[in-house]
Amino acid sequence: MRTQVAIVGAGPAGLLLGQLLFKAGIDNVIVERQSGAHVLGRIRAGVLEQTTLDLLDQAGVGQRAHAEGLPHDGIELLFKGARHRIDLHALSGGKRVTVYGQTGVTRDLMETRAAEGLTTLYEARNVSLHDLDGASPRVRYERDGATQQIDCDFIIGCDGYHGVSHRSVPAQALQIYERVYPFGWLGVLADVPPVSHELIYANTDRGFALCSMRSTTRSRYYVQVSADDKLERWNDGLFWDELRRRLDPEARERLVTGPPLEMSIAPLRSFVAEPMRLGRLFLAGDAAHIVPPTGAKGLNLAASDVGVLYEALAEHYLGKSTAGIDGYSARCLRRVWKAERFSWWFTSLMHRFPETGEFGQKIQEAELDYLVQSRAAAASLAENYVGLPFDQH
Ligand SMILES: Cc1cc2nc3c(=O)[nH]c(=O)nc-3n(C[C@H](O)[C@H](O)[C@H](O)COP(=O)(O)OP(=O)(O)OC[C@H]3O[C@@H](n4cnc5c(N)ncnc54)[C@H](O)[C@@H]3O)c2cc1C
Repeated sequence: MRTQVAIVGAGPAGLLLGQLLFKAGIDNVIVERQSGAHVLGRIRAGVLEQTTLDLLDQAGVGQRAHAEGLPHDGIELLFKGARHRIDLHALSGGKRVTVYGQTGVTRDLMETRAAEGLTTLYEARNVSLHDLDGASPRVRYERDGATQQIDCDFIIGCDGYHGVSHRSVPAQALQIYERVYPFGWLGVLADVPPVSHELIYANTDRGFALCSMRSTTRSRYYVQVSADDKLERWNDGLFWDELRRRLDPEARERLVTGPPLEMSIAPLRSFVAEPMRLGRLFLAGDAAHIVPPTGAKGLNLAASDVGVLYEALAEHYLGKSTAGIDGYSARCLRRVWKAERFSWWFTSLMHRFPETGEFGQKIQEAELDYLVQSRAAAASLAENYVGLPFDQH
């Protein structure tokens, strides 16, 4: 099989890129390790920046996100037992975020891709990348018991942190920066109305908690657990009790509980692989960088990589200039590192770190107090939370 652009991974990055390229008349094929049902069933991010919504619109798949997404103008910070609102809209010059689940984004993209008759090769095993430095790179995979090959102009690695793409680059050509946190998030998704109409980020002496949602009837809650905690140790009763203990009295009173639709533990990690382009392989989304989910940057960063890469490839194919693809890595990394910094900072501010003890807790509370008192400090949080402008130097 031959195509112009072979995309590895049908997560939000791969699907969005495929749709944008298709709209620009650029032929592409997606190779995905899992089944379509598995990809659709994954419960992950839920907060979209305006630039992500704009890209969904550009790809022609934004209608449902606009109709069903919940615009949010603020978040609440809970510390020392009281909640304080950060007015994102007022502090960021009129910007807001939209709560719309990654599952919805994936479904909208998958449905549109299927309706356009574009090729997505699900359940492709043992995907491997070849001739990344040559003029005609290749993707090989096994499917239906046979080894198959895609010849292409470019390979785009959108296959996440556990994928094959960044591992296909010789170690000496890739610089890895990584930090693993000593805790994870135990998450529950349940069909119960959210405790508050805005997200609550809680810093408590029992650890972090987040009250989030996917809709007005579906809530997503998290509590910080230690990195070596096991899901088998928890049940929904224990989870709701622990969450209640981390809330203020009013929220505790309002909390509606119910049977979980999903319960899982996600480890927290910061990770960047530099550069994001090697020969004819480009890395995008979680294949190139991971952020801890505090601040909801993962999906948005994946989308912004795709926006830059789509422009670069369109410029290459339609305008015959390589300036965009040559500048792709540097342009993305400027934004990536700012989001890495913000996610690391917000994680450090909100979580209980075993090694810093009571002193660490007091310092966090002082910083949170400063944040809610100082317009400048709150504006900095708001500006990063809603998403920094593109190409800010
Ligand atoms: C449990 C969890 C919870 C999260 N919660 C949040 C959150 O609350 N907020 C937030 O902003 N972000 C969150 N994230 C991060 C966010 O979901 C990711 O940043 C986002 O999914 C990145 O999209 P992507 O397309 O780059 O990668 P992915 O969504 O990881 O997609 C990669 C795709 O590649 C496929 N693949 C992998 N290996 C191969 C291979 N060898 N060959 C072919 N295909 C392959 C995978 O099956 C997958 O479909 C969470 C992530 C996880 C794992």
